[in-house]
Amino acid sequence: MAQDRPSSASVRKREARATSLSNWQRRCEASSKGRWTFRLIPDVGEWTGRKHGQVDFYLTQALSGHGCFRNYLKRFGHKSEDFCPSCGSGVTEDPLHILFDCRRFEEDRLTLEEILEEAFTPSSMVPQMLQTPVKWEAIAVFVAKIMTELRDQERARNGREE
Ligand SMILES: [Zn+2]
Repeated sequence: MAQDRPSSASVRKREARATSLSNWQRRCEASSKGRWTFRLIPDVGEWTGRKHGQVDFYLTQALSGHGCFRNYLKRFGHKSEDFCPSCGSGVTEDPLHILFDCRRFEEDRLTLEEILEEAFTPSSMVPQMLQTPVKWEAIAVFVAKIMTELRDQERARNGREE
């Protein structure tokens, strides 16, 4: 029957989506590459099924760990050192450090926590984003600010090295 086609197509689409979600979840659990993302987003279904929130360029960098983080730049040979220039050797500049620990962004983090009315941590970040559009926006603004600053600082340092 002709009218069966759309519904069976949409069922197939749903099944394909569910399969690719569980594939993603499996890959995240299995590979170290996705470990950071999985730490922030343990429940992929809840994340993709959210009712609000645009993942912009800066959030993508923070959530994937693929950005102007020195540990990431070092991995691709753009940097020989991966320590945090503000916190010193022994402290790797990775997304965990930048988002949640680095003293460069202490002020911004405190301002953010005032809006969130609780601590900003790797396990609270995504649940907070999913809670309300206001919290999503506050975190997106915080992330955009620090990612922009990282990029500018990296550019300025590269400029000096040339
Ligand atoms: Zn630091």
